[in-house]
Amino acid sequence: MRYNVSQLLKGHVGETRHYQLQNEIAELDPTIRPLTALNGTVDLIRTNEGILVRANLYTTVELTCSRCLTEFGFPTRFEIDDEFYPTIDILTGARLPLPAEADAATLIDAHHLLDLSEITRQDLTLALPLAPLCRNNCQGLCPICGKNRNNTACEHPNAEIDPRFAKLQDLLDESNRSSQ
Ligand SMILES: [Zn+2]
Ligand SMILES: [Zn+2]
Repeated sequence: MRYNVSQLLKGHVGETRHYQLQNEIAELDPTIRPLTALNGTVDLIRTNEGILVRANLYTTVELTCSRCLTEFGFPTRFEIDDEFYPTIDILTGARLPLPAEADAATLIDAHHLLDLSEITRQDLTLALPLAPLCRNNCQGLCPICGKNRNNTACEHPNAEIDPRFAKLQDLLDESNRSSQ
């Protein structure tokens, strides 16, 4: 996910490069379990100070259902819309002062390589639900025998979730709704 932007940095403001991206992201983050490559489009646009990255990306990751603990594939789509800043002047080779809004994830290195990995990791993480559900009406695990109620009817059809856990379940449901 690295682009050499030396030619683009020499270009005029507004000049744009368009790329198709297809990248394995197994190594991106130990907590993210991708089931497919990362796919999508990337536009690199020369700005006054640097390069604006506009990307539209999608992949499928494996998540664990917060109610029944089953693992399932979750297709997700997210965007990157961030400006990257050079650390070295492309014409003189002099070290450049960094704008206040620049952070380590959005710096172009001394070899004029723009690396999308860290911003992708951050934006993909934000696109994933905090309390994933394998389906909207997931029945969860039986609080008595622990069986997955989506697959089996157990002998405790009316067993209610322990009220202490019910409160937790509400919170999980709520955060799940607000993250979708
Ligand atoms: Zn579930
Ligand atoms: Zn049961």
